[in-house]
Amino acid sequence: MLLADQRSAVVAACRDLLAAGLVRGTSGNVSVREQATGTIAITPTGVPYPGMRASDVAALAPDGSQLAGALKPTSELALHLAVYRDRPDVGAVVHTHSVFATTFAVLGEQIPPVHYLIVRAGGAVPVAPYARYGTAELAESCVRTLGRGFAVLLANHGVVAVGADLAAAMAVAEAVEYTAELAWRARQAGVPQLLDADQLAAVAEAFAGYGQPSGRDESK
Ligand code: 13P
Ligand code: ZN
Repeated sequence: MLLADQRSAVVAACRDLLAAGLVRGTSGNVSVREQATGTIAITPTGVPYPGMRASDVAALAPDGSQLAGALKPTSELALHLAVYRDRPDVGAVVHTHSVFATTFAVLGEQIPPVHYLIVRAGGAVPVAPYARYGTAELAESCVRTLGRGFAVLLANHGVVAVGADLAAAMAVAEAVEYTAELAWRARQAGVPQLLDADQLAAVAEAFAGYGQPSGRDESK
């Protein structure tokens, strides 16, 4: 099967999004781009996540033409292609309607930097002006507002998270929803205190060295 690993990974990511409560029904969509060839594995449109199989995930050439997969790709195909076209550094796109992030999208307000994890998104998450789902206008609005960042809200719709690979894009989607929930809850109780630009820059620097050093001996 063409792009077998990537298509399986997309299904696994969808299951993880469902388990984490970031998607419901058929909302959201996920894609991965293979670096060497530029081919893209992308979720089918209108298919509930629990029954989705790897063979349902479409494999596309970089121009969007379908190479494999029996089902029609997501209605947000133009958006995914536009992000890949604009951002050579991006290897995966995760779109959800996760509730707290989408609450800010409905308010037309950026997600404020109330927690250091928002650095995964590149800082406060901006709102792209509204356009109907599935349109070239939405794709354009998304790419323009995303800029060099890693997350963008789609007004009255949802959130788009991107990363160098699927794990990175998923981590962004989770960090964005987590921060949006905190911001919302904090606002109910008082006035959230925001991190300033210097504090966010220091976190970005620390993140570069976060986690276990690569090359560690796992046999020990
Ligand atoms: P698809 O089922 O076509 O991926 O649509 C879901 C969605 O979130 C549209 O914005
Ligand atoms: Zn959507």
